[in-house]
Amino acid sequence: MYNRRKFIKLSAAGASLAALSNSAVAKTVSAIPDAKLPIVISTWDFGIMANKEAWKTLEAGGRALDALEAGAKIPEALDITNHTVGRHGLPDRDGHVTLDACIMDEFGNCGSVAAMEDIAHPISVARLVMEKTPHVMLVGEGATQFAVEQGMKKEKLLTPESEKIWKEWLKTAKYSPVMNIENGHKPGNEYNHDTIGMLAIDAKGNISGACTTSGMAFKLHGRVGDSPIIGAGLYVDNEVGGATSTGVGEEVIRNVGSFLVVELMRQGMSPEKACKEAVHRIIKKKPDTAKNIQVGFLAINKKGEYGAYAIQPGFSFAVCNAQQQDLLIKGKSFYPAK
Ligand code: ASP
Repeated sequence: MYNRRKFIKLSAAGASLAALSNSAVAKTVSAIPDAKLPIVISTWDFGIMANKEAWKTLEAGGRALDALEAGAKIPEALDITNHTVGRHGLPDRDGHVTLDACIMDEFGNCGSVAAMEDIAHPISVARLVMEKTPHVMLVGEGATQFAVEQGMKKEKLLTPESEKIWKEWLKTAKYSPVMNIENGHKPGNEYNHDTIGMLAIDAKGNISGACTTSGMAFKLHGRVGDSPIIGAGLYVDNEVGGATSTGVGEEVIRNVGSFLVVELMRQGMSPEKACKEAVHRIIKKKPDTAKNIQVGFLAINKKGEYGAYAIQPGFSFAVCNAQQQDLLIKGKSFYPAK
């Protein structure tokens, strides 16, 4: 992962202000308050803005799926401070912004796009794949072609700011994709987070999930992470709950992480315990790799109880229900904060 601290410094003043206002409104707590429905939860601090948008639909009695699509579109295209999702995302090592997203509803329907270029709202394309095609997943040029056929606008996604960061990276990177903690980079801190994973339960008690990202910055061209993979980056079972992930997608895919979390909840584990167990599975399989990477899981059960767990400290998640729309909770982690 790339050290966001470095490029935050490069950001325009307006972008910094927007970032500030995002965190300034947050009430950050460590304990998890009682569950109340409807509810929407999202990974990272930028989840606050996404949740607030989703809340408009949930509050009006709308469907969780509609709420999540609306919410995910905020970091995808409107939040200019977010270099890890959608339009302002950092490119791969060849300078292409390639996007991954998936969505899943209460009936077990799902849709996904991977390595898609030139379309600012992959979450909406994923939903269209789910609703308008007999398929689950479209990739690359085929995904872009389908999006255009469905009336979406093709546009250049690489912003001048992201291009500048990429060109800086090229100077020292030796064309080698960044996956680990290196040169003091700390995955999981406030400047080093990537995917937005969102889970919601609507007033009828139905659960949906959405996940969208520009993936690892400076990845190999064509690389696809966990985020668009149903079962890895996202999984929902309306009888049990939902889970989503963020961090180094390769390790999440290897362990079918989100499916694992939901299945552990089915066996009776709390959301936090299930996330912790999935993190332990990753660490147990590859302890040397796990020391140097971040992976975080976020989960919700049918009752609306939620929880999270990550390998490294620094993971946070946003919660929004009738009681509070701007709650940010510090996730627990395997490794303590240094
Ligand atoms: N999970 C994403 C990926 O591997 C990136 C992240 O969340 O950090 O593409």
